[in-house]
Amino acid sequence: MGSLRKIELILLLIFLLPAIFFSAYEISSLNKDEEVINQIYEDQLAAILYSANQYSDDVLNGWVAKIQVGLEMAKGDSTPEKIQMLLDLNPALSMIFIGDTLNLEESIQVFANDSSLKSSSAKISLASALANQTSKIRQLIRYQESGFKKNEPFEQFNNQTLIAFILDSEYRGKYVCGLIIDPQLFIEELLGPKLQRIAQDKFILNAYNKGSNLPIYQSNDTDSVTNAIAQTKDLWLLPDHYLGITTLGDSIQDIVDERTYTNLVLIVALNIILILGAWLVFINVKKEMRLAQSKSDFVSNVSHEIRTPLALISMFAETLELNRVKTEEKKHEYYSIINKEANRLTGIVNRILTFSRMEADKKALNIEPLDSREAIVDVLNTYDYHLTSKGFTYSFNPNLERPIQADSQAFVEVVVNLLDNAIKYSNSKKHVDISTGQKDEFGYISVVDQGVGISRQDQKHVFDKFYRVSSGDLAKSKGTGLGLSLVKEIVEGHGGRLELKSELGRGSEFLLYFPLSKS
Ligand code: ADP
Repeated sequence: MGSLRKIELILLLIFLLPAIFFSAYEISSLNKDEEVINQIYEDQLAAILYSANQYSDDVLNGWVAKIQVGLEMAKGDSTPEKIQMLLDLNPALSMIFIGDTLNLEESIQVFANDSSLKSSSAKISLASALANQTSKIRQLIRYQESGFKKNEPFEQFNNQTLIAFILDSEYRGKYVCGLIIDPQLFIEELLGPKLQRIAQDKFILNAYNKGSNLPIYQSNDTDSVTNAIAQTKDLWLLPDHYLGITTLGDSIQDIVDERTYTNLVLIVALNIILILGAWLVFINVKKEMRLAQSKSDFVSNVSHEIRTPLALISMFAETLELNRVKTEEKKHEYYSIINKEANRLTGIVNRILTFSRMEADKKALNIEPLDSREAIVDVLNTYDYHLTSKGFTYSFNPNLERPIQADSQAFVEVVVNLLDNAIKYSNSKKHVDISTGQKDEFGYISVVDQGVGISRQDQKHVFDKFYRVSSGDLAKSKGTGLGLSLVKEIVEGHGGRLELKSELGRGSEFLLYFPLSKS
């Protein structure tokens, strides 16, 4: 496995897997939290509605207790004092009745403030309503006999709620008693204040008539409340009515949703940062590894490049020293070989020095208006022999009138580097086209060869320090991998830029843009 693959895997293990596990865990626990919070909330609302029901029951039980005492004392048709007081104090209590379980119709006795309720027709309809419920009454008697007190809401009677219970009077015997409650008044006058106390400003508690969505009672008259009813519960006492609870302000659902959303955003952001971090680390490691590899290649390349001229110099110098060369002509040839190789050495050393100076930013560029045409013609004159002796032809098309802003020495170095490369990386088609021109506010120099070309992949790296194309025959040609990175640094040091267009097997074009001089 390649080292890069290993690093990829390690990064994946260190950064991404924990991030994925953490996120999955967090997201699942978010859902759980939400469920738990929701459950607690639902239970609380249920408890509030329960307490409202409990309160109604307490009120009813209080009444029933008083009625029992009152009826014990009832004599003849007159209304016992306690019963009258109860009716006067509680308008919601519209009627109280008592009747013999065995002979309801005959015996039914009614106490009410509204005299129409006491009429004989009202009595008859009440007795028949009770007669319709004999099974319920029998059940109440059974409860009573086993010592269990129960108040049973019966069906509606005249749109009001009829509640019955059994009274076993010592001297009157077993009676069915009951009361009729006006639900509207009960809710408004008795339950209402309690609902307001419970609700305070945290909830709205409404009472509804079954079959209608409009509340018959509201604990707060807030019109602006948009929250939906969170929970409803039937009123035990008034079977045709129910209570609904609505939260004020942000509902718990909103809060939970918002919290979940914030957490999700945070988790996603965290993951993006982690992935970005892992990616950056990977890119940097990749770069460093490539640089380390290139550096070690560089040392062997340079050693190789230096060793060849040194061997030649030492061989010819030794031959001369030993006086083995007879003719002056041969001697001259050997001297010139020594000179040429020494020049080559100087060239290599100079290039390395320039590079390291550029690296350390010590090479201050002396930027002045420069006639690119003149500078290139000079280079070509010097290089003419070099090019033609290697079988190259070349053309120069200057199309740039205005001077560029450049350091003349650095400019020459750039052009020489490109020419050198064109020579080094051409096989059979030995031709170089050099041209200049203007594009926007830049002057450009183009060097085109018909050599081996550079693959798309390598084009991204040829300007990197020490980078050399490592495949094919190219590795055989000599080089340090510094030429193009030097070109790049010089051009960018001028505030310019470079472009490379190349196709494998067809050749390359290097385009260097320099800022134009104002003058
Ligand atoms: P060097 O020539 O010393 O190897 P450079 O930095 O000048 O270093 O070039 C880097 C690499 O770019 C070379 O190894 C070569 O593969 C490729 N290259 C440069 N110029 C050309 C060219 N004109 N045609 C094809 N390949 C080139």
